[in-house]
Amino acid sequence: MEILYNSTRTKGEQVKASEAILKGLSDDGGLFVPERIPELDKSLEELSHMSYGEVAYEVMKLYLTDFTEEELKNCIAKAYDAKFDTEVIAPLAEADGAYYLELFHGATIAFKDMALSILPHLLTTSAKKNNVKNEIVILTATSGDTGKAALAGFADVEGTRIIVFYPKNGVSPIQEKQMVTQKGDNTYVVGIHGNFDDAQTGVKQIFGDKELAAYMNEKGFQFSSANSINIGRLVPQIVYYVYAYVKLLEEEKIAAGEKINVVVPTGNFGNILAAFYAKQMGLPIDKLICASNENKVLFDFFESGTYDRNREFVLTTSPSMDILISSNLERLIYRIAGNDPEKNKALMESLKENGSYDISDEMKQQLTDFYGNYASEEETAKTIFDLYDKTGYVIDTHTAVASCVHNKYKEATGDDKVTVIASTASPYKFTRSVMTAIDKKYDAAEDFELVDKLSELSKVTIPAAIEEIRTAPVLHDNICDKTEMKQTVMKFLGI
Ligand SMILES: *Cc1c(COP(=O)(O)O)cnc(C)c1O
Repeated sequence: MEILYNSTRTKGEQVKASEAILKGLSDDGGLFVPERIPELDKSLEELSHMSYGEVAYEVMKLYLTDFTEEELKNCIAKAYDAKFDTEVIAPLAEADGAYYLELFHGATIAFKDMALSILPHLLTTSAKKNNVKNEIVILTATSGDTGKAALAGFADVEGTRIIVFYPKNGVSPIQEKQMVTQKGDNTYVVGIHGNFDDAQTGVKQIFGDKELAAYMNEKGFQFSSANSINIGRLVPQIVYYVYAYVKLLEEEKIAAGEKINVVVPTGNFGNILAAFYAKQMGLPIDKLICASNENKVLFDFFESGTYDRNREFVLTTSPSMDILISSNLERLIYRIAGNDPEKNKALMESLKENGSYDISDEMKQQLTDFYGNYASEEETAKTIFDLYDKTGYVIDTHTAVASCVHNKYKEATGDDKVTVIASTASPYKFTRSVMTAIDKKYDAAEDFELVDKLSELSKVTIPAAIEEIRTAPVLHDNICDKTEMKQTVMKFLGI
């Protein structure tokens, strides 16, 4: 059955999946949401014998209803291939009584690869379906991880170019090296003199420049975004929750229909929202456990019903969760407001103007699926140490936040259901924080010494993504002032 997409901020306009993917955001500033959540139309037993790509098809076809079978299968085949270092794509590792769903086996060893490997193909297919002839230019401002995952996803994808701006002195040396060594004739990487906010603001200005858009169109280009609010990123993330469940079923770790809990280390609320959608589709999930670091806006929200970003921004060892505005939460707010765009819009306007909003008791009552908690920096490091000490399994800082919150949840509730913890990054991506959590003495070592040590300790082979950048040549040395971003884009496009 066809599914159309509504904006979370106004009633009326409905778009097809391919149009929602092309647009990213609705013209009214709202996010696109499916008009209803479809139910799985295959049994869990049937799904349990399928490969990752096959499960991906069974889930995504229910949302991207204007894609033909061939189009969607094509996108899936191009995304989940040998770029991943394991055929199962998202393996489960058992440690200390929980199942870690390893979402970091793609090209840039973080979970962003799960969606950004397929988004370029969904986008180019959507462009074809809507008779867009222009070349699509992806513009991204990054504080590190998203930029590299987007570059890897779009590199050499026909009909696209990707331009990434990062703060020249605001990313880690490994993150910078990952980006400036990116191959692909259609990739451009630029360090700007300024911070992440400057990069972000510059990109938003370019997106909002109507004159430039018209000129680009004349020259055969149009901008698009790989931002995490695009439904082309959300839908592929539902897949791995279904896949994890049916693999546990296949391995007889759970009985058919048995409810499990899911723990997600959360920043922008995209990953955990995908788990919530999976539950609405009929996947037997009980609690959705939302784990925050010291930027615990979401924990406070689940406790009090007040979302309040007015607080100090804390830099933590889990930087991909250092976020005070969780953009994807808007989709949940819209839903618990009874799919009422007016109510949602009022709350989002309050967030924009005052930095906060309160939800009604009626809305709060609909959040019983969720449990929120957080881990301090000290607790995060201790969790890495304890798990390694007990089992030899090494997790990254983001996953450690989730693992710590899982322990707090069990202690608080006594609930010991089978639990899947979303493991969102390889420990090799955050080697220094991980190694010093295991032993402070490692703080004195060089970055790549630490990589070798981690391999010795964890007995996990160094991923190609890390091995490559040891010796890879620098291919991008562009630097510009924050005021020159638009000219830089035009120069790259030769217009
Ligand atoms: C992006 C990211 C997260 C947060 O995911 P959201 O979907 O933004 O909540 C957690 N861990 C890692 C490693 C990430 O890169």
